[in-house]
Amino acid sequence: MDYQKITPKIIRKIEEIVDKKYVLTDTQDTHPYSHDETPGLNFPPEVVVKVKDTHQVADLLKLCNKERIPLTPRGGGTGLTGGAVPLMGGIVLTFEKMSKIKDIDKENYIVVVEPGVINGNLQRELAKEGLFYPVNPASMDSCTIGGNVAESSSGANAVKYGGTKEYVTGLEVVLPCGDLIKPGGRLVKNVTDYKFIQLLVGSEGTLAAITEITLRVVPLPEVKVDLIAGLDRLSSAYNILRKIWERKIIPTSIEYIDEVAIKTTKDYIQDDLSLPQAYHYITIGIDGKEEEVNRNMEILSDIFMQENIQDVLVAEDRKAQEKLWKFRQSIRDALLNSGTLMVEEDIVVPRSRIIEFMEKSKKVYQKYNLKTGVYGHLGDGNVHYNFIKTSSSEREWEQRVEKALSELFKIAISLGGKISGEHGIGVTKKKFLHLALNKAEIELMRRTKIAFDPNNILNPGKIFDL
Ligand SMILES: Cc1cc2nc3c(=O)[nH]c(=O)nc-3n(C[C@H](O)[C@H](O)[C@H](O)COP(=O)(O)OP(=O)(O)OC[C@H]3O[C@@H](n4cnc5c(N)ncnc54)[C@H](O)[C@@H]3O)c2cc1C
Repeated sequence: MDYQKITPKIIRKIEEIVDKKYVLTDTQDTHPYSHDETPGLNFPPEVVVKVKDTHQVADLLKLCNKERIPLTPRGGGTGLTGGAVPLMGGIVLTFEKMSKIKDIDKENYIVVVEPGVINGNLQRELAKEGLFYPVNPASMDSCTIGGNVAESSSGANAVKYGGTKEYVTGLEVVLPCGDLIKPGGRLVKNVTDYKFIQLLVGSEGTLAAITEITLRVVPLPEVKVDLIAGLDRLSSAYNILRKIWERKIIPTSIEYIDEVAIKTTKDYIQDDLSLPQAYHYITIGIDGKEEEVNRNMEILSDIFMQENIQDVLVAEDRKAQEKLWKFRQSIRDALLNSGTLMVEEDIVVPRSRIIEFMEKSKKVYQKYNLKTGVYGHLGDGNVHYNFIKTSSSEREWEQRVEKALSELFKIAISLGGKISGEHGIGVTKKKFLHLALNKAEIELMRRTKIAFDPNNILNPGKIFDL
């Protein structure tokens, strides 16, 4: 599809909608918006526009739709599949000026926010009121709620609390033609529409621009304990998981970190947390009322004893927990920093099959001789594989990674899995979509996109090509 280039005349029209100082055209100013956190992707926008309200978003989209200008919505730019990268140039619309928490409605256990609110800021404000928004991506101090909704993101707490899709009860969005829709609300129940919310959550900024989000919140748990244990064999992780489900406890989080990721992160943050020497590490979080947490901790220590695991580090106070989570949140940066390029994966399988998947995957990355750091959300069946380029030519390394990826995706699918659990398809996984979805499914997505965005101006080139 041919798009119109941004001309001085178009800039003048944009400046009639948004204050001139929020319309950036200088390449120095626009450069930070040409990439997100996906390694190796760089596409410069022609103009960056910082909107301050829904009317401006609607007027901009109307203009883009009329003039056929591509527009890419952007939150915190922490995406890992290139979702906020303006593949076709045009406008990057950033929500950084729309970052108000509009209402904390304690009676309804609801919070209403603008899309540019940083996830971690929301967490901190809610905690002051004794409330909790459990979705905590490891990027929570830089990613926005708008981006979380667009990606249907999750965090470590998903084992017990679920991800973004479990919390959105209302949205205000602008369609590519400039029309406004407001599905849902401050509601516990609602079966009035075609479930627009479920369609829009995870639509990766391709169907509508999200301008307001209504979220369900829960009471802040009274007590929280985290622990990390070193394991010699992956089969112990399998036994621990199985016994946790058998004993009917639901931890807040169950995370996995391999030896490569642990060692690289220890070097990177220069802190070893006094961790035991092991090949595999598992972290488990428990929260709730005091007696429930104590009971679950007893069950966990029983399980660890049965598995003959003695080296367990328990973080009971806030300082120790923050240290542990800082370590966990630094893993990706540490791995990225340890090579010259990294390709990261986000495969998801039923959680009962995750260890089987990991055992099969190891054979694949060993076969292709790839340095790999593995970590992620074991309790959700969603462990991230990070292939790190150290030496050899880029093209040759990329070919090996691509072959390994295809094999990993096929293994995941054969176990009932999918190619993305939380990072989305974006640009980087587009070419693998046909492995996970059949022709009818992709065609239905294409027709949905056309129904929302007939001129294909909103975030074009993402998920699939029209
Ligand atoms: C260190 C690190 C750790 C991470 N950990 C996790 C994790 O634990 N779990 C997880 O799920 N993800 C994780 N991520 C990925 C990333 O943080 C999430 O995908 C996050 O939700 C992206 O939010 P953002 O505000 O940065 O969005 P961006 O990257 O700016 O955009 C992401 C997508 O959302 C669209 N978008 C943004 N705002 C809007 C809007 N208002 N309306 C419509 N579309 C919009 C964009 O067009 C793009 O397609 C991690 C990333 C990093 C760098």
